[in-house]
Amino acid sequence: MLSFFGREAVSKVTLPMGRALVKTGLTPDSVTVIGTVASIVGAVTLFPTDHLFIGTLVIWLFVMFDMLDGAMARARGGGTRFGAVLDATCDRLADGAIFAGLGWWAILHEDSKPLFVATMICLVTSQVISYAKARAEASGLSADGGLIERPDRLIIVLVGAGLTGLGLAWAIHIAMWVLAAGSVITVFQRVLAVRASPGARDLLPLSSPPDDGEASTQ
Ligand code: MG
Repeated sequence: MLSFFGREAVSKVTLPMGRALVKTGLTPDSVTVIGTVASIVGAVTLFPTDHLFIGTLVIWLFVMFDMLDGAMARARGGGTRFGAVLDATCDRLADGAIFAGLGWWAILHEDSKPLFVATMICLVTSQVISYAKARAEASGLSADGGLIERPDRLIIVLVGAGLTGLGLAWAIHIAMWVLAAGSVITVFQRVLAVRASPGARDLLPLSSPPDDGEASTQ
């Protein structure tokens, strides 16, 4: 959804920060790893111990830090293919840790099975939404767009967690169910987008090796 706002406006803010970080000697890949490890540590230590507000702030800070890797790569004149795969892999780990940490909190401190269920739906769909797109692209198809992309997901979960940390007990329940429903819809949107991609429904020749990428994704 938020991709409507365009990357240009965002890069006006992030490019100078990316340039400044490059001058410190850090590489884009190290920023990816530092941001991801710190987000994961924040999610699996602060959320389960009932520190929702401070956990939200820590995760937000390091997720934002991790988003500067692209700006750094541009400041250095371009990124690498490895950097792009590392970045996408680390994003999945951070998302998984956020939902795992919240699910843990839902059981330990909220004693809410419905909230745990919503959190698990979000955990699985956050991975599948991105996998469907990556797998489609590996087959030369596309599965762009949809209701919930990563910025939308992070804003909804972190606003919900932050507000509940500040005392609005219901906020996280609404956020997680809205996100779960939106994410399930997005999975369907992506599958339909793949189905509509040019060549998606062409028969593959029987003599050809298994579809590219299939073996490697098992
Ligand atoms: Mg990144």
